[in-house]
Amino acid sequence: MTAQQAKASKTQITKADIVIAGAGLVGALAALVLSRHFPQWTVVLIDPETGTPHQDPRTIALALRSQQVLEELGVWADIAGATSIEHIHISDSTGSGSSTLHADKEQVASLGYVAQASAIQGALASACNKQTGVQWLKGSFIEHLVATDSCQQLHLNSGAIIEAKLLIVTDGSQSPTRAKLGINMNTTVYGQTAIAGFIDTDKFHNQTAYERFTPEGPLALLPCGPKRFALIWCAEAATVKHLLALPEDEFRHRAQKLFGSRAGYFVKSERAGAFPLSLMVAQRFVGHRFAVIGNAAHTLHPVAGQGYNLGVRDVLVLKQVLSQLPSAAQDPGDLTVLSQYEALRKPDYQQVQTFTDSLVRLFSSDQSCLSFSRRCGLKVLRMVPVLAKPIAQKAMGFGAQETLWR
Ligand SMILES: Cc1cc2nc3c(=O)[nH]c(=O)nc-3n(C[C@H](O)[C@H](O)[C@H](O)COP(=O)(O)OP(=O)(O)OC[C@H]3O[C@@H](n4cnc5c(N)ncnc54)[C@H](O)[C@@H]3O)c2cc1C
Repeated sequence: MTAQQAKASKTQITKADIVIAGAGLVGALAALVLSRHFPQWTVVLIDPETGTPHQDPRTIALALRSQQVLEELGVWADIAGATSIEHIHISDSTGSGSSTLHADKEQVASLGYVAQASAIQGALASACNKQTGVQWLKGSFIEHLVATDSCQQLHLNSGAIIEAKLLIVTDGSQSPTRAKLGINMNTTVYGQTAIAGFIDTDKFHNQTAYERFTPEGPLALLPCGPKRFALIWCAEAATVKHLLALPEDEFRHRAQKLFGSRAGYFVKSERAGAFPLSLMVAQRFVGHRFAVIGNAAHTLHPVAGQGYNLGVRDVLVLKQVLSQLPSAAQDPGDLTVLSQYEALRKPDYQQVQTFTDSLVRLFSSDQSCLSFSRRCGLKVLRMVPVLAKPIAQKAMGFGAQETLWR
């Protein structure tokens, strides 16, 4: 008997149908959706944070379907400061091309929503705390795992052992649990960093979101207060280092010069955080009694605002495939079912990844041929709105296809 086996034989072992490792934006959502849909299952949520998991100052553009999911769960009303987008304006700093999209022309009330990651996290955490069927182990993480035929045996830092029929891995981009499962990532480093912050202007935003492509990367302004925008400014790492060191007024003037005056005069700026950007995709998403979802499975450049929206669809599709289990054998860790999940998710990942990566490469280059093609492209989009719609919608994370996963 090994030392680990000896320790396990003395420790009380609990059983759970589903254990979710990571109570962030995707993990907390998964816990709520699965416990409400499958009340017969025990759902355990674990996170090393001892309170509400910390979310950095990033702002999230939510696709309509993602907003609807939060609404259906009853958490939308608790997300403070969420703002609706009715117009999207896309332009290029190296030329005159631009394209716009309007909710009324699309015959929808809103093209999507903007919310602070911390506000979404707070609302989800509060709902999980109240949810019968969710047991949340705060301050916990998996030290090691042992796969057996019938479970993933999880040995926690507290000394507790949980036998999970299904382990859902949602512990973010650097996922320690994914590493323990031996899953490698395909990684492309872009050499860009995103500055997340805020810009106050002298003009009401009129529910307009802006995305401006520059040779070093995109600059997005997402409305989040009457005269306030969330800023996501992507540029080469060396430029970002310089921008972060500038005094506030110089930083603001640099942003204004690059962005122009379409959103008004910038009166105040805040730099709240910086994120080195890369594309990371797991080499597999499921295996023996586990599924890796959310940022643990895919981390994208924020140019297209797709990361969390993709994670929301992971949760919806997982729920969908688990719903097809024959009632007699309700085993959420059934590999046939998990393989079906992987097969359903791959085309969406592939599409979003290709779209995001192409945007980064096409719109973050000062090569004259690419600059010329994107200016022509934006002019064509302006003249032929039917082409602009899917591109503009997707470019802001408001893709239409998520309705497929209802
Ligand atoms: C600048 C920027 C802008 C973005 N804008 C958008 C946007 O507009 N639209 C969009 O859809 N997406 C956007 N994204 C992406 C989005 O933020 C992510 O996709 C989303 O936050 C991922 O959620 P997650 O739950 O998978 O990971 P996280 O939110 O990172 O959660 C991970 C959780 O795991 C926990 N954890 C850590 N270690 C362990 C462990 N050992 N065991 C258990 N738990 C652990 C952490 O405490 C945390 O709670 C943006 C990203 C960036 C960087």
